[in-house]
Amino acid sequence: MPPTLSDPVQALPGIGPAKAQTLEKLRIATVGDLLEWYPRDYEDRRRIWPIRKAPVGEAVCVQGIVARDASTSYIRKGMHLTRTVVFDDSGSLTLTFFNQTFLARQLRTGASVVLYGRMEESNGRRSMSNPVCEPEGRGEITGRIVPVYPLTQGISSRQLSRWIGVALEACGDQLTDDLPEQVRLAHQLPPRGWAVRTLHAPEDFDRLALARRRLVFEELFYLTVGLARLHARRQAGEGCRCAHHPPEDYCALLPFSLTGAQRRTLGECFEDMASGRRMNRLIQGDVGSGKTAVAAGAVWLAAKSGWQAALMAPTELLAAQHYRTLSDLLSPAGIRVGLLTGSMRAKEKRDVRERLALGMLDLVVGTHALISEGTAFARLGLVITDEQHRFGVNQRSALVGKGDQNHPHVLVMSATPIPRTLALIIYGDLDVSIIDELPPGRQRVDTFLIGEDKRARMQGFIRTQVSQGHQVYIVCPAVEESEVPEAAPIHNATEYARELQTTVFPDLRVGLIHGRMKGSDKETTMARFVAGEIDILVSTTVIEVGVDVPNATLMVVEDADRFGLSQLHQLRGRVGRGSGKSYCILVSSTRGEETRERLRALCATTDGFKIAEKDLELRGPGDFFGSRQHGLPQLRVADLAGDTRVLYEARSAAEALIAADPELDEPKHRPIRERVQRLFTENPDIFN
Ligand code: ADP
Ligand code: MG
Repeated sequence: MPPTLSDPVQALPGIGPAKAQTLEKLRIATVGDLLEWYPRDYEDRRRIWPIRKAPVGEAVCVQGIVARDASTSYIRKGMHLTRTVVFDDSGSLTLTFFNQTFLARQLRTGASVVLYGRMEESNGRRSMSNPVCEPEGRGEITGRIVPVYPLTQGISSRQLSRWIGVALEACGDQLTDDLPEQVRLAHQLPPRGWAVRTLHAPEDFDRLALARRRLVFEELFYLTVGLARLHARRQAGEGCRCAHHPPEDYCALLPFSLTGAQRRTLGECFEDMASGRRMNRLIQGDVGSGKTAVAAGAVWLAAKSGWQAALMAPTELLAAQHYRTLSDLLSPAGIRVGLLTGSMRAKEKRDVRERLALGMLDLVVGTHALISEGTAFARLGLVITDEQHRFGVNQRSALVGKGDQNHPHVLVMSATPIPRTLALIIYGDLDVSIIDELPPGRQRVDTFLIGEDKRARMQGFIRTQVSQGHQVYIVCPAVEESEVPEAAPIHNATEYARELQTTVFPDLRVGLIHGRMKGSDKETTMARFVAGEIDILVSTTVIEVGVDVPNATLMVVEDADRFGLSQLHQLRGRVGRGSGKSYCILVSSTRGEETRERLRALCATTDGFKIAEKDLELRGPGDFFGSRQHGLPQLRVADLAGDTRVLYEARSAAEALIAADPELDEPKHRPIRERVQRLFTENPDIFN
């Protein structure tokens, strides 16, 4: 019986239990898994250079005759050196191999070999060390485009390539095409089997691009089909019905009038909530665009309709701020607001939980403590998460799950403008409202990039700001001196705050806040800053999200090259929130032109979306989110920064499919359903 795709890898000739175990580390269990282990890169080894003409410093292929038997010498413990010389009609090349004594058998006088490695030259003599090497004519690792695989210890790329070759030989024909033919034709996608083969062993880069496009499309298609179903399913859920209240009644509570964008967004929320269906809405808006006022409106409507609401924030500071803002705003309307955070005393927590469970609170604002076991609601009808990208999809679901019988409405606020591609994926199951208008009177924060040479001037500027009665933030990349010595020392908040207070600004009030401080200490410090009792607040990125101090007019970021653009943009959003002219100074002594370019881009633009796109492009989605916490399936081939066009195509194909066959019941769509399910069962939580 020939092996099939679902057989364990051991069904393949040449893979025994030991190798199977190593592959297990890469989560490769079946022959099918092996075929889906795609290269991360390719080396073009097609061109064979004459030895003397090959460009120095580059990885190249050459072919030569071994001039004399390779000799191996013992250098020291664990280190053997094998050397020989090869030549072609252009010149000669010295080869050096470390700990590859077995090569001596191949490198016999007169043998013809092909080598691939970095060409070096010194005193006119050419050499390579540790090139890959094979006999002429074999053509396995030279003379072609060679895939480079992601690896684990104990497996080489060459080995993987060989096994994948065996697997393709044995099972390549079984790679069926699950994409509907009309989709394939409409989007000009080659067959799957061809694409997989080509990705592993491309003849040229044009074919490779076509194969890749096909697999990227497929991956994004299944993903968006899954998200569309999720969306449909959430929508289908009956929502906690809210009354039709005119938004004006709520607006009367506000000390300002809403911007057009806020009013539109609020209208969308009210409509969702009164529709009888569940709301699943994302509010995206740049820092300071006034998302909280909209969220408060949704809370107001829920409370007026007899439902409880929960607002989850990523940090204690932010939760506390929301608590203050919302209780100030909503208490006059008779709405009872509570706070629940991890650092509260046990008795206080118990008390809040009790009142929640009894329905004596209409809104609870809190941190992760909200999703812990002990928290129960009497009639939860609305779940709001702030700065969503800091929570996983799972955490959002966990809070929604507290709604027991009914299905709470979901409102997600995100201050990080997320590139559209990522928003589609991460929030693919949500409707989106965008607040693209800042409240009147907001001003542009002037941003400058400076080097060490301007430090004294900057300190003078800090002093000027403070003497005008304003306050200053200084953000450092680290909390304290690193235990791991850094290549270049960076500012740490603890040390820096001390230094500023003792030597630079002894007459000013310098404060310190960072993530490793106790919650209550952070609260106290922040409260003192808000109250104007601190002139200069030295901090880490804990202040990145949310907290509002209108009197702060200057943001200094030390070692700005250590931060992502979106993060810097967020930090910059901490100033310019009052009436005073505000500034952001990025300090960096980096000489890297690329990094400087990046930072200059930030000085030039204030559009959070543009910055986010740039960030995604430069640093990739993983970095964008700090870690893989968004809870969505890992992508194997697609690159969210580069494959935008394909994503849009795949998404429209997915939407058409779901519109035609929402449950994917038609027999010809069954394989798609299975695929989608498989994709999502790797992350089961997402479907709850
Ligand atoms: P975001 O959460 O979107 O960053 P906030 O909701 O915290 O923004 O609002 C930022 C500040 O702007 C708050 O002080 C808020 O009171 C104020 N604000 C919000 N909407 C308006 C508005 N329409 N007019 C004037 N000020 C507003
Ligand atoms: Mg906010």
